[in-house]
Amino acid sequence: MPTSKPRRSYWSYGYRRIVLLLVALVIVPSVLLSSVGVALLVLGDARANLMLGILVLSFTSAVITGVVLIWVFVRRDARLGELQADFVSKVSHELRTPLTSIRLYTETLSLRRGNEEIERRSIEALTKESKRLQDLIDRLLDWGRMESGRRVYEMAPVPLAALVQDAVGAFEPLREQRGFALEVELPDALPEVVWDRGAVQDAVVNLLSNAFKYGGEPPHIRVSARADDDEVRISVRDEGPGIEEAEHKRIFQKFYRIDDRLAREREGSGLGLAIVQHVVRAHDGHVELESAPGRGSTFTLVLPRVPPGAER
Ligand code: ADP
Repeated sequence: MPTSKPRRSYWSYGYRRIVLLLVALVIVPSVLLSSVGVALLVLGDARANLMLGILVLSFTSAVITGVVLIWVFVRRDARLGELQADFVSKVSHELRTPLTSIRLYTETLSLRRGNEEIERRSIEALTKESKRLQDLIDRLLDWGRMESGRRVYEMAPVPLAALVQDAVGAFEPLREQRGFALEVELPDALPEVVWDRGAVQDAVVNLLSNAFKYGGEPPHIRVSARADDDEVRISVRDEGPGIEEAEHKRIFQKFYRIDDRLAREREGSGLGLAIVQHVVRAHDGHVELESAPGRGSTFTLVLPRVPPGAER
C-alpha cells in the first residue's frame, strides 16, 4: 500500500531549533536567576555576596548567549534576503537565454521561409530550446514544492534493478545521440525497496546528466548498485576533471555552480544536486562524494531499503 510522506523544509527545522535554544539557554536561566535574586534580597543571607557573584556571571553568560542567537537570527534573515535576490537574478538569466534563442529562431523562420535547410535547423533549435525552458520550469516548480514542504513523496515497493535500469533508459537517447561510454553494473539479486520511484529515478538521472556534462570529453560513465540487509548504494562514476575538496559541500547548495570553464560552458541552474540531496534526505539517506582534481568523481546515493515511516 503506497504511503504519502509530506516533508517539511529544512529551514523550518533549523528555525525551531533556534527558538528551543533561546528558551532553554536564555529564558529559563533568566527566570531562575531572577527568582534566586529575589530570594536573596528577601533573605539577606551572609553568603549573599558569593551568590550574587555567581548570579552576575550566570546572568552575563545568558545575555551573551541571547545576543549571539539574535545575531544568528539577523544573519539568517540577511542571508535569506541575499538568496532571494540571487534566486531572482539567476532564474531570470536562465529563462532569458532560451527565450532569446526562441525569439531569434522564430524571426529567422519568418524571414527565411522556403529555405528548407534553414527551416529544418530552426525547427530543431526551437524544439531544443523549448524543451530546455520546460525542463527549467519543471525543475523550479519541483524545487519550489520541496522548499515549501509541499512535495509529497509516494513511498511504494519497487524492484531496485528496474528503477536503476529505467533511470539509465531515460538517459539512453542522449547516449545514442552522442555515442559515449555508459557501463551499468548490477548484481543479479537486487532486492525490492520502498521508495518514491519517480523521485529517486530523477535523482539518478540528475547524477547521470552531471557525469555527462562535467565528466570529461568524451565522458566515460559507470553506474552501479549494491545492497545489503538495510542499505542500498547507487553510484555514478565519471572520469572527468574531478572536484576540489573545498567545493564538496558547496555544490549541494541551491544555485551553486563551481566557477570554472566547464560549468560556464554547460547549461545548468545549480539546482540539480540540491534536488538530489532533498530527495535523498526525504528517504532518510545521504549522498557521498568521492572526488579529487584529475581523479574523476563518484556520487553515491546511500538509502535505507525501507525508510522509517514508509510501509511495505
Ligand atoms: P548544474 O549542473 O545545473 O550546474 P548541479 O547542482 O547539478 O547544477 O551541480 C552544481 C555544480 O557542481 C555544477 O555546476 C558543477 O560545477 C559541479 N558538478 C556537479 N557534478 C559534477 C561532476 N560529476 N564533475 C565535476 N563537477 C560537477
